[in-house]
Amino acid sequence: MKKILIIGGGPAGATAARFLAKDFDVTLIQDRIWDKPCGGGIKSKIFHQFDIPTDTIKHILKSVIIEYKNKKTKIDLKDKNLAIVLRSEFDKTLRNLAEDNEAKLIYGKFKGFKDKKAVININNEKILFDYDILIAADGVNSTVRKSLNLAPVPKIITHYARVENYPVKTCEFFFDKKLGGDYYAWAFPHKNKTHIGSVGNTFKNLCEYLNIDVKPKGYFIPTWEENITIQKDNIYFVGDAAGQVMPLSFEGLYYAIHSAKILANAIKNNLDYKGEWDKRFLKEFKLMKKLENTMKKPFLRDLMIRVQSIKKIQNISVNMWLGKGLK
Ligand SMILES: Cc1cc2nc3c(=O)[nH]c(=O)nc-3n(C[C@H](O)[C@H](O)[C@H](O)COP(=O)(O)OP(=O)(O)OC[C@H]3O[C@@H](n4cnc5c(N)ncnc54)[C@H](O)[C@@H]3O)c2cc1C
Repeated sequence: MKKILIIGGGPAGATAARFLAKDFDVTLIQDRIWDKPCGGGIKSKIFHQFDIPTDTIKHILKSVIIEYKNKKTKIDLKDKNLAIVLRSEFDKTLRNLAEDNEAKLIYGKFKGFKDKKAVININNEKILFDYDILIAADGVNSTVRKSLNLAPVPKIITHYARVENYPVKTCEFFFDKKLGGDYYAWAFPHKNKTHIGSVGNTFKNLCEYLNIDVKPKGYFIPTWEENITIQKDNIYFVGDAAGQVMPLSFEGLYYAIHSAKILANAIKNNLDYKGEWDKRFLKEFKLMKKLENTMKKPFLRDLMIRVQSIKKIQNISVNMWLGKGLK
């Protein structure tokens, strides 16, 4: 049986392991148990599409709020809704699903390659792992990419914190340039604390605006480009390690999980991974990239956000964003 070694047990790696483990000898390497900095927002349809236990859902949101020029607009998501997950639990559940299909989960850290084998540090001991196929799902700062001297994934800094004194009932998105820069800032409800963040360097302004005094953590998020290398010989990249984050919305969870399934199918059926990914997502990603660039132009940004108060336009935007709901 062919050996597949997967580096990184986040949503992308765990899902690839889950869908490959019945046909291959799959080992999943995860460096640590942690709660990755994340808003945790994910299209709720992923749960039935991928048969993911719904007890990982902490909130189901039926509306979101966009805030712009001191005006709050409530966007009704109808039955399409958005789910909020806590990453520590969500990622663990996805790894459990992989183990249920007999993937071997090992806690260790990929350090590089030696003699065409992967060097994994396990309890301070360097162990060499043989593989026929290696999947790099090790996130935006992929060590596998670095070890192969591939160009890093294009990325942007985000700032992120968990706060107690700004409770929210639903996701709030802030589109003023001062708060969200070229993109947006956000506040997402979580069980005890609200997760807040901004893409770019506007976090200080966001805190001032929300009257919050908190030190953020910086974390990178990929900015997708069409030409990112996602395969080199028998090494495949998926999720953040492949830059597969939707432009403009910066959703990575949904696309990491879907891309991992596309990759698993491509490996199982000997198909061209990039070709399969392009068939499914290229059009959508290119369109969102265009919209992202449009949003950088002040006049068009103003127009695009203002028209969201028109119900018909809201419906079109929600359909584009979330597609079908949980049912
Ligand atoms: C502040 C912030 C907020 C975000 N909010 C949202 C959101 O609300 N909704 C959304 O859809 N997306 C969000 N994202 C994006 C989302 O977090 C990522 O796109 C998603 O986690 C990608 O999944 P992944 O499995 O590709 O990578 P990751 O989740 O990064 O998983 C990679 C895993 O590999 C492990 N790893 C790394 N290096 C090694 C190594 N050398 N050896 C072994 N293991 C290794 C890591 O510990 C990690 O657990 C956010 C990102 C940031 C930074």
